[in-house]
Amino acid sequence: MSAQEFFEEGELVAVLTTQPLDRTLDYKAPEGGCFLGAFVEVPLGPRKVLGVVWGPGKGDFDRSKVRSVIRKLEVPPMREEMRVFLGRVADYTLTPMPSMLRLATRAPGLGDPPSMRKIYRLGDRQPDRITDARTRVLEVLREYGGLAFTLKELAEQAGVTSSVVKGLVKQRVVREEDSPRDLPYPHLDPDLPGKELTEDQQDAVNKLQEGVRTEDYGTTLLKGVTGSGKTEVYLEAIAEVLRKGRQALVMLPEIALTAEFLTRVEARFGARPAEWHSGATMTERRRVWRMVGQGNAQLVVGARSALYLPFRNLGLVVVDEEHDTSYKQEDGVHYSARDMAVLRAAICGARVILASATPSLESWANAQAGKYGRLDLTSRFGDAVLPEMKPIDMRAEQMQPGTWISPSLRQAVHQRIERGEQSLLFINRRGYAPVTLCRACGEQIACDHCDARMVEHRFLKRLMCHQCGETKPMPEACPSCGVEGKLAPVGPGIERLAEEAEATFPDAEIEMLSSDLFGSARSLKAKIEEISEGNADIVIGTQLVAKGHNFPKLTLVGVIDADLSLHGADLRAAERTFQLMRQVAGRAGRADRPGQALLQTFQPEHPVIRAILSGDEEGFWRTEAAERQAAGVPPYGRMAGIVLSGPEAALVFDIGNAMARNDAPLREIGAQVFGPAPAPIARIRGRHRVRLLVKAPKAAPIQDAIARWIAPLQLKGDIRLTVDIDPQSFY
Ligand code: ADP
Ligand code: ZN
Repeated sequence: MSAQEFFEEGELVAVLTTQPLDRTLDYKAPEGGCFLGAFVEVPLGPRKVLGVVWGPGKGDFDRSKVRSVIRKLEVPPMREEMRVFLGRVADYTLTPMPSMLRLATRAPGLGDPPSMRKIYRLGDRQPDRITDARTRVLEVLREYGGLAFTLKELAEQAGVTSSVVKGLVKQRVVREEDSPRDLPYPHLDPDLPGKELTEDQQDAVNKLQEGVRTEDYGTTLLKGVTGSGKTEVYLEAIAEVLRKGRQALVMLPEIALTAEFLTRVEARFGARPAEWHSGATMTERRRVWRMVGQGNAQLVVGARSALYLPFRNLGLVVVDEEHDTSYKQEDGVHYSARDMAVLRAAICGARVILASATPSLESWANAQAGKYGRLDLTSRFGDAVLPEMKPIDMRAEQMQPGTWISPSLRQAVHQRIERGEQSLLFINRRGYAPVTLCRACGEQIACDHCDARMVEHRFLKRLMCHQCGETKPMPEACPSCGVEGKLAPVGPGIERLAEEAEATFPDAEIEMLSSDLFGSARSLKAKIEEISEGNADIVIGTQLVAKGHNFPKLTLVGVIDADLSLHGADLRAAERTFQLMRQVAGRAGRADRPGQALLQTFQPEHPVIRAILSGDEEGFWRTEAAERQAAGVPPYGRMAGIVLSGPEAALVFDIGNAMARNDAPLREIGAQVFGPAPAPIARIRGRHRVRLLVKAPKAAPIQDAIARWIAPLQLKGDIRLTVDIDPQSFY
């Protein structure tokens, strides 16, 4: 490394802070000096802020005024690979470095000395007198052998008040000790026996393990139909990483999937891994952050931000359901966790496994081009076979107005109920009805702050805006014409479909699964478990159910509106529909009973619907790839979305127009600008939104050109500009 590694006390160092400044600040190194990368606390005005020593001081500041670092934090310095990674993500996504540092330090109290807590164990004395309560405490402690409890845990387990425990502590019957709060994670043992693998699975495992042993970068697309054992296969790749003494990260797109995966890790390696997600408490997050940095967490299961944890020796990143759109973060730093996982692995010499039954076109194309390896698992494990897929031509069905379950679908569900099997009715829309219409004046109730219609949620008895989350009670009278009793729901959401199902199948047990119907990840998980045990005849679900849950008794999937996402303005509309339909259909027939998927559609001859039904995946991707190539759009060209927003539409447009006129930096690299145009959602939270799209050839340095393009802008007042490189959704 060229940069200086250690700074003596008093030497000038440049510190990157988490504060929104466009540069590093000079400070004097603290007492005892500090290493490059040290986490420090520095004074900034009247405040103390978190920072990292980023290099030698620049010396562009009056030396007599330079202040000293307040203290070094008791955590290992940020490694060079992490500094490089943060810098590259910043360059790629055009994000200021302080925001990157915030992403990398998302745990509270990082610098606090390891905090202690009291724990309780069996002592060596006998109590002066024995009571029932005391006996229970002793029984619990004996039953769990040498294990230590917190006061609360012990009192709860024994069913006594904490004063009973305290009384025993006084007599030294129970010992009270101090123990660090952030304990290392239990050891995972890769040499416990795994499942016996099929030949296909074993082949894939061998190749992946070979890759792991190179201790060099490499990305593999692991494509396998749902239920083919992708998880089993990548668990064995993880085992090899653990044997090498390196760390692994598994990213999952949905917290609700974590529980099942943790259980599988425990079954394979004998203990549970560290978990990193938004549902974790602050204390848990801090423990993960610290233990990952010390190498005392061998495996982390987490959401996309786990990528910025301070791994000491990362050997493998698994991105499960790699096509999932939730890997793209669309507020704050706009980044794709899948793409950044590949970048991170390339920097630290780790492997990446991208697992999916329906890969993204990006990953498919990278495998075609030989940039990624590819492994295919083509059959389901055991006797499970892939579901048969069939269209229901809605033009030929006799439908009552205001109903969505066709007679053909109804009959199929009845059959399943008779056989004691489960059916899933899938509709990708939350709430009761997407539109509330006044039958007197034609008004559609809209959000006051957004260019969006309010969605009725009958369960909550409110109207809700899915853009800003604003809710209001369902009015009696039309807010526009004042006529009462004329407001009517139009179109189906999951709640309305459930109502229809209850009327159609009055004796069936019906469950709804939608992300907004559950107060917590835990209650959702409990519901998913109940369903997989067979406690429902009909499951009505939104997108949530498409993601990897195992419902062994489910043999029928009915897609209420297969055409719904075909018509988006989005360049990925076809790809998304294809993925979603194949994923949902994959829920059927996981165990020993064959499954069937029925797609209600008004256009069974549409090429995308035909590809979904025929299962000709390679054919679909080739066609889709050819179309994108011809249009010069991702993954065969580059794009960036620029959104300008502000309280006044005209002002925002003026700036957009000026940007479009002064596009020299973009023309230089052969890029084009489209717009400005009102963004597809032209107003959110009262802010008017105007969008410009930049399209560039694949190899063009788009970030650099955009940076030069926007640098001269002086955004006044409340105008904001966001840049989204490789946009995934166009809103
Ligand atoms: P995927 O991740 O591709 O959907 P999973 O790894 O979840 O597939 O496998 C589907 C089901 O089949 C799981 O319940 C899994 O435990 C089981 N399974 C897969 N392979 C094996 C195997 N070799 N031995 C035993 N069970 C297996
Ligand atoms: Zn709104």
